[in-house]
Amino acid sequence: MKEISMVDFDNEVKNGGKVVLDFYSTECPPCDALAPKFEGLANIYGNDIKFVKMFRQQNKPLAEQLGVRSSPTLLFFENGKQLPNMLTGGIKRSDIIHQLDSMLPTERVNEIKSLIKPTVSEFDVLILGAGPGGLTAGLYLCQSKINTVLIDIALPGGHVSTTHEVSNYPGFIDPQPGYLLSHNMSEQTKLCGTIYKVAVDVTKIDLEKKEVVIDEFETVKAKKIIIATGTSPNLMGAPGERELKGKGISYCATCDAKYYGDKEVVVIGGGNSAVEEADFISKFASKITMVHQFDAFTANKQAQAKLFANPKITTLFEHEPRSFKREGEKMVTEVEDLKTKEIKKLVSDGVFVFIGMKPNIEMFKDKLELDSWGYIKANEDMLTSMPDIYAVGDVISKKYRQITTAVADGTIAAIAIAKELN
Ligand SMILES: Cc1cc2nc3c(=O)[nH]c(=O)nc-3n(C[C@H](O)[C@H](O)[C@H](O)COP(=O)(O)OP(=O)(O)OC[C@H]3O[C@@H](n4cnc5c(N)ncnc54)[C@H](O)[C@@H]3O)c2cc1C
Repeated sequence: MKEISMVDFDNEVKNGGKVVLDFYSTECPPCDALAPKFEGLANIYGNDIKFVKMFRQQNKPLAEQLGVRSSPTLLFFENGKQLPNMLTGGIKRSDIIHQLDSMLPTERVNEIKSLIKPTVSEFDVLILGAGPGGLTAGLYLCQSKINTVLIDIALPGGHVSTTHEVSNYPGFIDPQPGYLLSHNMSEQTKLCGTIYKVAVDVTKIDLEKKEVVIDEFETVKAKKIIIATGTSPNLMGAPGERELKGKGISYCATCDAKYYGDKEVVVIGGGNSAVEEADFISKFASKITMVHQFDAFTANKQAQAKLFANPKITTLFEHEPRSFKREGEKMVTEVEDLKTKEIKKLVSDGVFVFIGMKPNIEMFKDKLELDSWGYIKANEDMLTSMPDIYAVGDVISKKYRQITTAVADGTIAAIAIAKELN
């Protein structure tokens, strides 16, 4: 695998045969999560397809010319021609494999696959999700000398790693950068001895057998499982959103705000996330228009006061997005005034969406008892409706979703499990 810059593009990519090019950024958790997958696949496919990386911030003109609007973005080339499928955002290993396989003859793909040997490993406890809930459970289990593995589709940290600042986690006088708080939590758990399998694809989860298959070929078994998979941002569902996700519409300010220096941005939402992230985006953007469906924000008063004092930010209350379009370099967001029904066009350079969350339960939702919102029901020991399956943090049915409450759940599950196993 090779790191290149704009000046090498013609030589390495245009004349490079079959090539996959990774545009990455710094301070970008999805880029960090992609890096080990990209390297691993370079070892498997490297004889047939050339793997190159380019630092997006330093090679902006080329990135823009190639249509890169979010980090990371993978572009695929064959004999100098850019292939239509680009991958962007939280890129899955299986999606890259699918694209790489399509660039090679079937016999060669079969040969490559036959070289990969399936493995099986066994642990006392398997934790799915390395956010604050999972990391805390990992720490307590490890300190009880229980053989524990933490599996995450991304790098450790959960939402905290992409939160600009955390001011309400006890033990710190000053607000902490989210990435630092999550880094410290993760290092504490890792140094204790918990095994990490992170930035992997979770191929299959079998709660009955208590086993999880990762990256297609690695089976991890355990006596008990803790689900700590948290939540993901809701999509608006408006026309154009899916197509422009990662191509003008972003759900992560820490990842993408830095590309909007002196540019105009629309932020959709009015809760804590929207208000706090709009304030962060204003460090880069020259103008922010917030669009919120109600006549007042629901964010905490302190965050609202900061927002109202920010001269770069204006708000359209009682408006809802109706569609997203790209016109040349600009994003056009059509919003409806809910009082007058008038449709207005907001022209900007990018759109950020922060409109709440949904639980990450897709791979096992039919197996567990859920509340009417789709969150997992757990008892006071964090045990779910299935024996030996626990759930902690934002993914469970509860009133308040905060770092402190996720950490508390992780503590309880770990102590309850340690008592049983010991
Ligand atoms: C923008 C924003 C700002 C916030 N600010 C604050 C704040 O200032 N203070 C505060 O207390 N709280 C804040 N919160 C809430 C806080 O971040 C959450 O309550 C907390 O992170 C929940 O921790 P968790 O471990 O349950 O889940 P998460 O942090 O969501 O972590 C879940 C982990 O599970 C992984 N995962 C998902 N699916 C799978 C799968 N199938 N297999 C394996 N792994 C999987 C994810 O990659 C992730 O790493 C904020 C939230 C957001 C979104």
